Amino acid sequence: MTAAIEVRDLHKYFGENEVLKGIDFTVEQGQVVCVIGPSGSGKSTLLRCVNRLEEPTSGVVLIEGEDITDPEVDLNKVRSRIGMVFQSFNLFPHMTVLENLCIAQKRAKKRSKAEAEQVARANLEKVGLSDKVDAYPAHLSGGQQQRVAIARALSMDPDMMLFDEPTSALDPELVGDVLDVMRRLAGEGMTMMVVTHEMGFAREVGDKLVFMDGGVIVEEGVPREVLTNPQHVRTQQFLSKVL
Ligand code: ADP
Ligand code: MG
Repeated sequence: MTAAIEVRDLHKYFGENEVLKGIDFTVEQGQVVCVIGPSGSGKSTLLRCVNRLEEPTSGVVLIEGEDITDPEVDLNKVRSRIGMVFQSFNLFPHMTVLENLCIAQKRAKKRSKAEAEQVARANLEKVGLSDKVDAYPAHLSGGQQQRVAIARALSMDPDMMLFDEPTSALDPELVGDVLDVMRRLAGEGMTMMVVTHEMGFAREVGDKLVFMDGGVIVEEGVPREVLTNPQHVRTQQFLSKVL
């Protein structure tokens, strides 16, 4: 079976600064891969290279076998297959929840208003926010806004989802609801790559845990094994600070 995401010898420079120093990894279809590591280790840059929000300096990124570093590739088409959820929810403040979920569907997927609304409502139900269709983002908690952002991404029918610290901006009591939504999504077989500091989530939901430091993958493996028996000193040091 073709891997959902395959990254080969990926390098990324910002000016003189080499931020990704030869990254290789694979996400199989339906797998949940969690990425951990200290601030500045290149996690966000890696995630952003996977849908070319950042331009890799060299190396190859294959999405379901298609090389998206090829200059000929239709980026909009690639990105429509990859849902992305950020730490900051980036909802349009002047639009209702329903409108936030419909706008990209209508523009990029050319869906009618009725069809877009139907998809939006189904996804709001999925994240437990059916009663908030007409609310404005400012009237929602951070956790609810993040669940709206997830529902918005799902409304584009992505083949896979990338999450960049989706719960890091949330008050602790709001984290659980967002993780529950992600856990359910994983259970439905969604392919996911999740940068997170939630080690419990990584252990329970992740099929694979990747530890990055200084622009390289230091260690990867079954989450439980990496977390309880890290092989590298750098992994041990990092985990001793966060666990
Ligand atoms: P992480 O997500 O692990 O905290 P990042 O991928 O955000 O790490 O950043 C890795 C390194 O790349 C940092 O040193 C950061 O300052 C640098 N960096 C990230 N984005 C840019 C950018 N757009 N321009 C210049 N440097 C950047
Ligand atoms: Mg980051």
